[in-house]
Amino acid sequence: MKKWVSPVLIAILFVGTVVNGFLYARQATDVAGMEDRITSLTGAIETLSGNVSNLSGSVSNLRTDVAGTKEGITSLETTIETITKPTPSNTWTALASDPALQLLQAPPSGKAQNVFLVVMDGVRYSETFGDPLHRYIPHIWNDLRPIGTINTEFNNNDITVTVPGHTSMLTGVWQKIKNDASERPHNPTIFEYYRKQTGAPASKTWVVTEHMNLVAINYSDTSGWGESYGARLDSPGLHQSTPPPENADMGPLKFGGDVGTFDILKHVMQRDRPSLVMVNLGQTDGMGHAGKWTAYTNAILDADTIVYYLWLKIQSMPYYKDKTTLILTNDHGRFLDGNGTGFQDHGGIDDGNRHLMFLAIGPNIKSGAQVDTPRELIDIGPTIASMMGINMTQAMGKNMTELLR
Ligand SMILES: [Zn+2]
Ligand SMILES: [Zn+2]
Repeated sequence: MKKWVSPVLIAILFVGTVVNGFLYARQATDVAGMEDRITSLTGAIETLSGNVSNLSGSVSNLRTDVAGTKEGITSLETTIETITKPTPSNTWTALASDPALQLLQAPPSGKAQNVFLVVMDGVRYSETFGDPLHRYIPHIWNDLRPIGTINTEFNNNDITVTVPGHTSMLTGVWQKIKNDASERPHNPTIFEYYRKQTGAPASKTWVVTEHMNLVAINYSDTSGWGESYGARLDSPGLHQSTPPPENADMGPLKFGGDVGTFDILKHVMQRDRPSLVMVNLGQTDGMGHAGKWTAYTNAILDADTIVYYLWLKIQSMPYYKDKTTLILTNDHGRFLDGNGTGFQDHGGIDDGNRHLMFLAIGPNIKSGAQVDTPRELIDIGPTIASMMGINMTQAMGKNMTELLR
């Protein structure tokens, strides 16, 4: 070996070692950097997992909230349906279970000496005669219609709210009055004509109303008429702690709403034998305003039952049997679906608000008949007047002679 080889080799080895060391150091730094990055990425991933887990927690909380809300809604619905569905009173049940009443299904014969005008408040034609299945009025359609006459073109052609609707029927003149019982009708009611022309006492004319806005419809503010010829009036809403003086002989009402209204009506029928009665079944309107479809349709079903039992009650009392006409209608309908709030409200001019159910049953009324003559609310007063032999001199409406046999 040459003498210079060794130092050169040593130098090469030295340089190689230094370079290697440097490279190694570089690699170590890179690895350390990568480890740091991995650590920081792991941290980020952990943070993200934490966030995801928090989100899952929030989602699960939201789900619980939604479930709770759904339960709340279901229990509210149940409450509304419980309130809507009246429990039949004992007398009502007894009346329904009396087999003798099944014999009363024949059309009446004789002359009308008494008229009951029943108003199912604020029900659309689409839920009554306009429903091909008549699913909410089974008694009216299947039991009562075949023994009377229906009109398929009956309308409220003026203000489609409660007090104007009822008082236009009673006076035979469209009444443009407030809907809050602060204003009386401005033309004489049929009660006033009847009492003035026949001398009948107040107890022979009655208004029994569920809807409390109607507590001032029993006589007009017309000069020379008014209170001294007015009808008596009662409502479940007036029986808060004790009955009003008109019905002081009644015990406490067991039920409110339309069932309570029917209980008052039966009491009055037994005691006073009234000849001219207006009955308002107002829960249909109240439940419509509540905006819950099944509450509204259940109220119609309940009113359907009450109207049927009223007819059975009339035909089960010798005083009334075959001498009494029952007229059933609505004061107004409700908005058509797609107009405003739909079935929830009324007061408009569409067909939903205007078009009404009309049925008459009585000794002088055709049985199983349908008429399509356009008629309106103000025709009711003059038609009743003609049946009872009285003359409504201020009425604008017409006598619906097409109903008569
Ligand atoms: Zn009404
Ligand atoms: Zn209403």
